[in-house]
Amino acid sequence: MSVSNDFIPDGISSIEHFLQISQFANLPPSFFTHLRPTPLPEPYLVSVSPSQAEALNIKVEQFNQREVVAFFTGNQLPANATPLATVYSGHQFGVWAGQLGDGRAILLGDTVSKDLQRLEVQLKGAGPTPYSRSGDGRAVLRSSIREFLCSEAMHALGIPTSRALCITGSDHYVFREAPETTAVVTRLAPSFIRFGSFEHWYYHRRHDELKVLADFVIDGYYPECKEDKNPYQSLLTIVTRKTAELMALWQSVGFMHGVMNTDNMSILGLTLDYGPFGFMEAFDEAHICNHTDQQGRYSYKMQPSVGNWNMHALGQAMLPLIGTVEDTQAALSVYASSFTDKWASLMRAKLGFTTSHETDKQLADDFFALLQANHADFTLSFRNLSHLENDISTKDIALLDLFIDREALKAWLERYRARLKLESSNAAIRQTAMLATNPKYILRNYLAQNAIEKAQNKDFSEITTLLSVLKNPFDEQPDNEAYSILPPDWAKTLEVSCSS
Ligand code: AMP
Ligand code: MG
Repeated sequence: MSVSNDFIPDGISSIEHFLQISQFANLPPSFFTHLRPTPLPEPYLVSVSPSQAEALNIKVEQFNQREVVAFFTGNQLPANATPLATVYSGHQFGVWAGQLGDGRAILLGDTVSKDLQRLEVQLKGAGPTPYSRSGDGRAVLRSSIREFLCSEAMHALGIPTSRALCITGSDHYVFREAPETTAVVTRLAPSFIRFGSFEHWYYHRRHDELKVLADFVIDGYYPECKEDKNPYQSLLTIVTRKTAELMALWQSVGFMHGVMNTDNMSILGLTLDYGPFGFMEAFDEAHICNHTDQQGRYSYKMQPSVGNWNMHALGQAMLPLIGTVEDTQAALSVYASSFTDKWASLMRAKLGFTTSHETDKQLADDFFALLQANHADFTLSFRNLSHLENDISTKDIALLDLFIDREALKAWLERYRARLKLESSNAAIRQTAMLATNPKYILRNYLAQNAIEKAQNKDFSEITTLLSVLKNPFDEQPDNEAYSILPPDWAKTLEVSCSS
């Protein structure tokens, strides 16, 4: 597609100088393939994340410019762009899948945010690469909106994640279950290196490249490991801890990733590659959000143990660098305690405890058993619990109304209130703290679906609204009550698959 250069509006120069040559491009050529994105016909802006734009010093209005849209679609390359697709491999659904790689994501280069964080800029859905296998290199508008909204929502929930800057769309369509129009998400992370990036070199028995990759990760992201006796063991230990903590965070907000293959696991402990994810609504620990996952390998209750399984896949790949099985196992062994400690501290916060007590775990487990038995809405249960007074009051009603077995909940609440008394809990302080940790607004599937259906009819306003609601998930937003209520019945029929 040709783009005219006769009009360079104000601000374009800041976009033109937005990119630096990516650090990743300094790796040996075997790590990636240089290629240009494939242009899309007549791209248009779908949505921008104002907070991410601001963090990058870009004005939201700049996205109204044709050149800027062309840039974030991959139709026009700015100065310093070093577009490339990286190679990686991975285990998919527990089975070695061999080489995968960026089949539709193209790394344009790096940028530096206002707070001086170096970020990789990727265009997801920007056309085929040598790693596309049978794929078309594209992403449909539907899945692009889901990734865009969820990465920004997770960030607002305080959960480590890749970020999203904008979506551009085109009327060009591709076939999934049906024909759908395509889009490009510009996403950002300090690094998109995955466990599968390490497995790639291990399974090809190319230990020199394995070492180059590990040194690159240590130099760029974990320099503290360099001083240690065995830097590679330290690297594995830190990644183990971060991954375990990420799993605890996911569980604490009811986030289900849906495709926890090792190629979707970030070496930085970020939530990465949003596909058929979901947030828990009517609580069922066996819930599977990805309808392609028939065995439930990636169901809610499995996520912490799959995180550990994935760590072992990474540990196996790093074994030649670490040296011994014992040292590798020692690094991996921090998983259980990291998860348990993080989970315990998150549960204390969710229940509003400022001290810890030996009965806390049982009390939390029993609340989950009640959620399970009653299929109570996960988010609203914790949110309504946050409003309770120290003694029984009318505020109990909103919580009790979410449960069928109200007597069982009342019995639990009696124990809960006795526990609050143990630390002389101040109701007002506790409520404030709990409301800042138990979100009111999450990206319910049906909310995303509403935004998608409007967008498919060229009305992008619901994406903007949702983005703004989810930016402040802990705040009371009186005008947006409708976004916090129980999902409508039709939401139960929504199915999300790997197809994206
Ligand atoms: P995912 O399940 O989205 O994480 O993708 C797994 C692998 O398939 C990665 O290597 C992706 O790049 C690749 N892939 C997924 N969808 C496409 C597509 N439409 N075109 C090319 N590659 C794809
Ligand atoms: Mg992936």
